[in-house]
Amino acid sequence: MSGPPSPTRVAVIGAGHVGAATTFALVRTGLASEVVLVDSDLQRAEGEVMDINHAVPFGRPVRLWAGGVADCAGASVVLITAGASQRPGETRIDLVARNADVFASLIPAIAAHAPEAVLVVATNPVDVLTMATLKLSGFPPSRVLGSGTILDTARLRSLLGRRFDVDARSVHAHVIGEHGDSEVVAWSAANIAGIPLDRVNPERPFGEAQREAMAEETRRAADAIIERKGHTAYGIGAGLVRIVEAIIGDERAVLSVSSAVDGPFGIHGVCLSLPAIIGGGGIEGVLPLGLDAPEQRALLRSAAIIRAAADSVGLG
Ligand code: NAD
Repeated sequence: MSGPPSPTRVAVIGAGHVGAATTFALVRTGLASEVVLVDSDLQRAEGEVMDINHAVPFGRPVRLWAGGVADCAGASVVLITAGASQRPGETRIDLVARNADVFASLIPAIAAHAPEAVLVVATNPVDVLTMATLKLSGFPPSRVLGSGTILDTARLRSLLGRRFDVDARSVHAHVIGEHGDSEVVAWSAANIAGIPLDRVNPERPFGEAQREAMAEETRRAADAIIERKGHTAYGIGAGLVRIVEAIIGDERAVLSVSSAVDGPFGIHGVCLSLPAIIGGGGIEGVLPLGLDAPEQRALLRSAAIIRAAADSVGLG
């Protein structure tokens, strides 16, 4: 005899800008019946929870509370947003030592309380911290992923959608590699509804210079926001919720996220973003993206930068 369905719990670790925006976006979807927000600053988590709870009656029912890491028990997904963020002029890699320290104590505690969860890292530098999470949790690689370039890919698709005057959801294009300065746009695989970019509107060519300008705008998008308002939060919040949706719904959706790469393009033992299949078990596979020679070289360079940052905090 089957009992009542068990609640779907999602834990959000870190109640800062990213954790709060993610929690707000998550409770609006109704994807989870229980959401716990955890921060070492309990008051901050409590304040966000009180505020967000006042939005719940306008949407779908959800039990939301401020808790501790022990409340990750039974969570299907744990979203990790805790740690320092970039100040203007800082790169994501500059955060590595500070946030590796945070993860050294945080991840074993999460893993002990939620041994069956899929762990999703957003804290920067996200690729290196996904490697740290893999090592510190002892989880199989399928259940540890980073938000990686999901947001850069969304930014690129939105720019391409505007350039070609189509809905961004009809644009198939991926930013791969590091979520950071060495990220790579996979132009050779980009298309709109299966049509290569140079055939979509031949009267208005989209050449090398325009591509490079768009790649640079994508790469610099976070800096442009941080210069103006000090942080980014809503885009990544929506991206994290999209990942939760793909996991909870066992969708096998293709998303650009960071995972342990072992083989493609000769890359081993580094976490970086490639188009991955996301389902109930986390990473269900990585698609064989076709890249031209310069793109492959750029991806290898990106992998080397992540590797060097990982080595610098003893993850080599
Ligand atoms: P923030 O400073 O507003 O919040 C960080 C929170 O983490 C704070 O509330 C702090 O108390 C908490 N924290 C620190 N150590 C903790 C611990 N051990 N346990 C629980 N909570 C702890 O920062 P933010 O703007 O929310 O950014 C958070 C992280 O997300 C940064 O590393 C930032 O670079 C990253 N980020 C990633 C992306 C992405 O695309 N992956 C986008 C934006 C920001």
